[in-house]
Amino acid sequence: PQTQDADSSVRLTDTDAALARLSAVQKQYLQDPYIKHLVPRPHLQPARPPLINIGTYVRATAIDDLVFQWLRTSATHGMRCQIVSLGSGSDTRFWRIATGAHKDALAAYVELDFPEITSKKAMAIRKSKDLSAVLGILRIARWHRAGIIHIPPFAGDLRLPPADTLGKLLASEDGAILSPALPTLLLFECVLVYMLPAASSALLQWFIDYFSPSGSGVLGSIVYEMFRLQDSFGRVMVENLKARHVALPGAAPYSDAASLPGRFLNLGFTAARALTLKEIRKSYISRAELERISQLELVDEIEELDLVLEHYAITWGLFVPPSASAAPWGQ
Ligand code: SAM
Repeated sequence: PQTQDADSSVRLTDTDAALARLSAVQKQYLQDPYIKHLVPRPHLQPARPPLINIGTYVRATAIDDLVFQWLRTSATHGMRCQIVSLGSGSDTRFWRIATGAHKDALAAYVELDFPEITSKKAMAIRKSKDLSAVLGILRIARWHRAGIIHIPPFAGDLRLPPADTLGKLLASEDGAILSPALPTLLLFECVLVYMLPAASSALLQWFIDYFSPSGSGVLGSIVYEMFRLQDSFGRVMVENLKARHVALPGAAPYSDAASLPGRFLNLGFTAARALTLKEIRKSYISRAELERISQLELVDEIEELDLVLEHYAITWGLFVPPSASAAPWGQ
């Protein structure tokens, strides 16, 4: 059937994301000792072009920074927080946090993707000592502190009514996996573009409803996505994806960066902001880092780089339930 074909093409985008990350690691843009365990035959995979490596670097560095700030804010205030990665694919963020400076600030980390993707990831975790060793520590921690991670990662279709997927996820096991009382960060890294805007709004609304009533828990959300697909370069991007049978039903409404925070603000989020990867590279990556990565590979097409980077954006928002104190998250 049509939808199954479309979904298998969407699932393949995870392989693209993982190979792009592997390439950026092998070319020393990024450090990540875990990605090679989630990609088959990592040493035989071809490097991606410099433009893709730089894009991957800017995207990963910016999202890592926002997640790091979230964890640090929790840690500084003696709180623990939860992270939910939706459409998590082969992402390694869990392992990087679990071995990083703020691992003790993490109360729960939940990943959700299609079953084909989560079972493949669960298999890779079982095969790799490096991946499973970290889980080992966390399982013990979970035993004592209730709820760090659930393996295998949760399988589900994010387009289904959230009550059937996330609702069950929260009701399963020995009580709520996500506490509505803890600050919780939602990650949508290159996933909402594959869903209708109504389905992504329903997802966000579900989280708001879960956190609002009892809620002392603050909700943060980070979306990374391609946008501005109506201009000439954007149309080429869409055509390239169409050639691979990937449809982008969620991309239509956002024709400029100023409209991106609307995704959150229209749902009643307290604050939201968006930056394109072009802006992030120009204004938020340190000079020293820009200098370092400029030595890694020769890039002739600086104008083309800007053109690519201005078609991707990171939007982040904060929802503070009425009963919660905004500080320190409201800053
Ligand atoms: N977030 C990961 C990253 O940035 O490396 C993976 C990004 S990949 C481009 C998109 C992921 O979203 C894929 O793993 C795909 O299977 C998942 N995805 C897309 N639509 C989904 C849906 N309706 N339900 C569950 N997962 C979905």
